[in-house]
Amino acid sequence: MAQKLSESLTDFPILNQEVNDERLVYLDNAATAQKPNQVVDALTHFYQHDNANVHRGVHTLAERATAAYEDARHKVQHFIHAEKPTEIIFTKGATDGLNLVASTYGEANVTAGDEIVISIMEHHSNLIPWQQLAIKKHATLKYIELTADGELDMADAATKITDKTKIVAVAHASNVMGTVTPVKQLAKLAHDHGAIFVGDGAQSVPHMPVDVTDLDVDFYAFSGHKMMGPTGIGVLYGKEDLLQAMPPYQYGGEMIGFVHRDNSTWAELPWKFEAGTQNIAGAIGLGAAVDYLTNIGMDRIQAHEQQLVDYLLPKMEAMPGVTVYGPQDPAKHTGVIAFNLDNLHPHDVATALDMEGVAVRAGHHCAQPLMDYLGLVATARASLYLYNTQADADKLLTALQETKEFFNHGTVKAE
Ligand code: PMP
Repeated sequence: MAQKLSESLTDFPILNQEVNDERLVYLDNAATAQKPNQVVDALTHFYQHDNANVHRGVHTLAERATAAYEDARHKVQHFIHAEKPTEIIFTKGATDGLNLVASTYGEANVTAGDEIVISIMEHHSNLIPWQQLAIKKHATLKYIELTADGELDMADAATKITDKTKIVAVAHASNVMGTVTPVKQLAKLAHDHGAIFVGDGAQSVPHMPVDVTDLDVDFYAFSGHKMMGPTGIGVLYGKEDLLQAMPPYQYGGEMIGFVHRDNSTWAELPWKFEAGTQNIAGAIGLGAAVDYLTNIGMDRIQAHEQQLVDYLLPKMEAMPGVTVYGPQDPAKHTGVIAFNLDNLHPHDVATALDMEGVAVRAGHHCAQPLMDYLGLVATARASLYLYNTQADADKLLTALQETKEFFNHGTVKAE
């Protein structure tokens, strides 16, 4: 039976603490999410009962560890609706998965004169691998721009994606603008021009139902730690035929068929892309996180966050001296809310909010070309998850008001 969201709060003891003598309000979920007891328990259980290397031994612990590791792969497969478990590669995270695609598929398929299309709001993880590939291959990197409202400009996408395009790589949800991109449409546009589509799911998979088969993406990368799993584990989904045709990413143990003195053959999918001892406990912990999210229901998680955005965003937008980035319409805005306070550096804002127990991030959010595009150096960013409540939103609003008053030097907009 689906667990009630309010009951889930007790699953996160870390949230039940005071910071600077104030109740902790954790609003840095786009950076990393907190882990429920169920995930921590899965890690402890593995290390206390089943720890062994996978795929190698015939002894009982090795068999148990292998079964738990492969079971986690099946959980992830069903969670994102991939057709086969062979299409699920365990990686270190979204960054690792995107680098994998650029270094293998990209190396093998991009040549001089080709074009790679990304968007101007990409996280550096979905930017630098393509930028460096383009430099190396003498290909051109093109950027899809944004509408005035901060959404992906699909009219611009239609002009940037051409028959010269080999790869289109775009985030499904922005880690700054709070926007969701029309990935299904983008994948179709890419395919119509003979290109492949790579999705960065780091900010989408934790927060909304994702069906990679329906979206018809060719590759899709995401991180375990943003969806309540451990750090150091992530997933790359890839269509089987593409993964089959690609060279390995790294060489070593576990990824081989046979090794001869002068050449080698590769293991079957997905192990061809999992060289060396993997983050076994991490994968098992991610499986527990998938169970946790599934038990609550991704639809309900998305609806809960939307309710909070509907409540919080208009109030932030209405605050004099506060600028909120991305769509003004809450219905178009995810739980990632980037903002600035007039004449205050976002680091000062984040420090002042921390004094009130409110944890937000400040900086360029690994999206320097986007900051440049927006004419900004940095922003503060509050980002929500399923354990956040209306009381958390109110605490942020009060803390913002107090921050403004604390720094009040007559330069904020008149109230
Ligand atoms: N893409 C996006 C949109 C992100 O928000 C992040 C993390 N901030 C990443 C990629 C990279 O994820 P990781 O650092 O876990 O590899």
